[in-house]
Amino acid sequence: MPCQLEWIGMEPVAAGDEESFRHALRYAQLTALLELGYGTYSLNLFVAMTVGAIYYATDGWSDWLLYWSGLNGVMIVTRVLLQSHVHDHLETLTEPQTGLRLMTASAFAGGVVWACLPLLIPDLDLAGRHSYVVLIMAGAIMASMVRGIPHSPIATMFALPPLLSIAIVLTRDGDAEADILAVNMLVLALVLHKSCRLGAANFLATVAAGVQATDLAASLKIANAEAQEKNKALEILANCDPLTGLANRGRLQAQLRFSLACARPGDRIALFILDLDRFKQINDTLGHAAGDALLNEVARRLTSALDGTGLAARLGGDEFAVLIAGPDHPDRLLDLAQHCLDIICQPMLLNGRVVPIHSSLGLALWPDHAETAEELYAYADMALYESKNARKMCAVGFSRDMKLQSDRQRQIEQDLRRAIERGELQAWFQPQVRIADHAVVGFEALVRWPHPELGLVNPHEVVHSSEILHQTRALARSMLEKSCRLIKELDDRGLALHATVAINISPRDFTIYDVPELLRSTTDLYGVPRDRFEVELTEEAELEPERIHGALKQIAQSGFKLSIDDFGMGHTSLNHLLSINVDRMKIDRSFVNGIAGNLQNQALVSAMVALGRMLNIDILVEGVESSEDLKTLRQLGCHTAQGYLFAAPMPHADLVRWLEERAGSRQQASLRP
Ligand code: C2E
Ligand code: MG
Ligand code: MG
Repeated sequence: MPCQLEWIGMEPVAAGDEESFRHALRYAQLTALLELGYGTYSLNLFVAMTVGAIYYATDGWSDWLLYWSGLNGVMIVTRVLLQSHVHDHLETLTEPQTGLRLMTASAFAGGVVWACLPLLIPDLDLAGRHSYVVLIMAGAIMASMVRGIPHSPIATMFALPPLLSIAIVLTRDGDAEADILAVNMLVLALVLHKSCRLGAANFLATVAAGVQATDLAASLKIANAEAQEKNKALEILANCDPLTGLANRGRLQAQLRFSLACARPGDRIALFILDLDRFKQINDTLGHAAGDALLNEVARRLTSALDGTGLAARLGGDEFAVLIAGPDHPDRLLDLAQHCLDIICQPMLLNGRVVPIHSSLGLALWPDHAETAEELYAYADMALYESKNARKMCAVGFSRDMKLQSDRQRQIEQDLRRAIERGELQAWFQPQVRIADHAVVGFEALVRWPHPELGLVNPHEVVHSSEILHQTRALARSMLEKSCRLIKELDDRGLALHATVAINISPRDFTIYDVPELLRSTTDLYGVPRDRFEVELTEEAELEPERIHGALKQIAQSGFKLSIDDFGMGHTSLNHLLSINVDRMKIDRSFVNGIAGNLQNQALVSAMVALGRMLNIDILVEGVESSEDLKTLRQLGCHTAQGYLFAAPMPHADLVRWLEERAGSRQQASLRP
């Protein structure tokens, strides 16, 4: 059997799809047949009654007429019932072909009943008084052709029996004219069959095009749904942090822009930025999986602390943010920020270990602090920086001072590199004296930067900015060179002979450049003896003696002196003091200032002096401002001091003058009787 699709002129389709396509076609054929309704059956009945009436009028009553009419009536009723049954079960019909077959069979049965008509009429005279039979049967056959449009076998099956029966009847007489008529009938049957098939093919082609269009629409719908799904997934990717599921930076920025655009008078927009302290350490020690778990837990805690207020986002790494828009009071927002921080900073169980969580939070408000989204970010960041510095796990709100400080910092960073290159940084020197006779035994070199706009920039700012700009080596080198020049000049003038110069070096410098090498190369270049230099190490909490132990050893072995600055403030252990061979400890001025009236500090300094003696380490007291304090310090056994009582730090030229004046007055005093 030729493929139905080819037969109706359709492109072949994939094997799997062909079956469902055929099914759809058959279903459409059956539906079209059913939609034709019961009109042809009524016509059939009417035509049969017409035959009976004409026969009765021309030939009178006959029994066969009753039988045939009855049979035809039963047949029509059967066909109507069958069609109605198929119609009622159309929805549940799994195979429409069965319906088509049943209806084709019933059409054949109907055709057979009509075929009986010419055979039953006694003394049939088709050319004469019974010619109406041929005409009426032709009408019935034509009506069947209308039914056959959706499914050609129906028309063929109905038409074939009557046509054959007429042909038989015609050839039965042996009349040549009747034979020719019979042949004509057969040809007509063929033509009818052919045109039925053509009509049905056209119908199928139309239906097939419809089915394909429906399929196309359905597949387009599916494709559209898939595209929408994908868009949704892309949207989630574009807006969410994949690890925590919080909003990402882009989403937060968009929301901030939107909130700013929609803000009404009286509204306030708050931006919290928070980050975790020492997250890297947790990642490094407990592994990245634990780090991820920590971030997820922080995200969860943040969301629960907010309890539906605002939008929480992860900006990246260990940095989170919260955006809250609406009419709210600054104090309430600060309270909420602190609440978030408190919830986040609960200890956490990671890899079976209880890990303390430390975090800092900065908060800025629109319109109170900032006018634009960029300012809001920058100011919340500044507040975060303050919160970090305070190390108290306190939410910090932005203030104007922070902005001034940040502007100042920016300007310092902008100008510092050039200032170092141009030699604009100055070294000021503060004398260190022997308490017993006030003889100058050394100086401490302290950096000073007279900025054209900011005035004198304090050393902490210079040191901090030089670290940010990676200029610590250049700064140390500049201070060393200036100190070398001072020593040379003092030696040339015969002033403060053998006095040392102390250079401040931050322990962090040891991890950035080769400090011993810089010390050696610079002092060698100026031809200054190494023992005239003392390296002052600020005692910092982060000082890790193990990491810088080798360099300190090299410094000592090269002939430079070593001292621990601000002793008592940090965490230098005895062990480390012994292992790095320190020459001097400088007791921080916080223990020294007002010591005359402070018994506790007296006890502490006395203990430090005893420790120094035990370890054979010299003790210098810093920040001596009054003669009472000096007296007490002397009684406690201190030998060397530095402070405003003797002299404040001063520029090179002033120091030379100061020393000359001092030398002059001392000389005069010694000449006095
Ligand atoms: P420091 O090394 O402890 O320096 C002593 C500080 O105490 C100096 O402050 C000095 O001016 C101040 N001072 C001295 N005597 C007295 C006194 O009697 N009373 C009071 N109240 N203060 C006194 P300065 O110059 O502001 O330096 C601050 C810190 O900056 C220094 O503390 C040092 O740690 C750091 N620093 C200064 N210059 C440099 C440098 O060139 N490199 C590095 N890395 N740090 C430096
Ligand atoms: Mg110092
Ligand atoms: Mg100090």
